Amino acid sequence: MMKTDLIEFGLEVKNLKKVYKGYDGNAPVVALRNLNLQVKKGSFFGLLGPNGAGKSTLINILAGLVIKTSGIVKIRDIDQDINVREFKRSIGVVPQETNFDPFLTPYESLDIQAGLYGVRKSERKINQLLRRLGLEAKSNAYMRSLSGGMRRRLLIGKALVHAPKVVILDEPTAGVDIELREMLWDYMKHLNANGTTIILTTHYLEEAEALCEKIAILNKGELIACNDTSDLLARVNLKVINIKYSNSNLKKINLPDKASIKENKNQRLSISYNRNEIKTDQLLDSLRSQGLAIMDLSTEEADLADVFRLLTKNN
Ligand code: ADP
Ligand code: MG
Repeated sequence: MMKTDLIEFGLEVKNLKKVYKGYDGNAPVVALRNLNLQVKKGSFFGLLGPNGAGKSTLINILAGLVIKTSGIVKIRDIDQDINVREFKRSIGVVPQETNFDPFLTPYESLDIQAGLYGVRKSERKINQLLRRLGLEAKSNAYMRSLSGGMRRRLLIGKALVHAPKVVILDEPTAGVDIELREMLWDYMKHLNANGTTIILTTHYLEEAEALCEKIAILNKGELIACNDTSDLLARVNLKVINIKYSNSNLKKINLPDKASIKENKNQRLSISYNRNEIKTDQLLDSLRSQGLAIMDLSTEEADLADVFRLLTKNN
């Protein structure tokens, strides 16, 4: 039973901690406190969090670019510290920063990368990859002639040459134009549809909402939420209506079960409800029929950004 449980996970992180040493008299930075995370095999997983939350630290640990202080990282039952090579071959990481040799062509760059991963010449599918990334025409052009968007696509290509089971992308759409963003989205969806587990970090909430089945929110090195996207969104289907009324003494108002009322000073009240369960006009009709004289009203609707603020506010 333990065994099958493990196999269900594309990625498993246990008690992961990272402390960066403080240089030049600076205090050490605890970038990851005690992180526990399980990402299901084949899923599309979003890792969100404000700047400095620790997203890149986590990803760079997975990529082998940063050495963890303590903890366990596994892909299925392949432990990063025990099955070093196998772990490396199971994962493809698209880092946040682009860094290329200006004298290589995209073809050469991908071919070298494939070699680093030990992919046999006969098994390399460089041209196919270049085509899928829309870089076919630039196969043999020097890197310096590539636009920013093309470089970013090539970076994704470099993470994919060895056909990894798990692909992790660190803010792939940060600062890219809409056209490229949509192309990247399609490409990530395509990979996921073919069975690749995708872990995407972003600070665009709407991006995570559009793509990810599950979302984890990281703040100051700690996980503050990890939910199915739909559950997280259900939390934010909250709607608040603020009312100023003119009745001098307000009698008790009956509301549908799922709405909650808060009486404020100066003849104001606010009512919170789930917009999937209660319709605003029905609520207002009900209030009026109970004799509430509404002078003024305003509504607030929460979105994922609100949940995010709500969750990160008290940390
Ligand atoms: P995110 O990607 O979510 O913005 P990072 O993982 O880059 O967060 O950073 C997490 C914390 O670790 C921040 O406080 C950052 O300043 C610190 N940090 C990141 N890299 C280093 C480093 N190489 N040395 C020291 N501190 C670092
Ligand atoms: Mg980062």
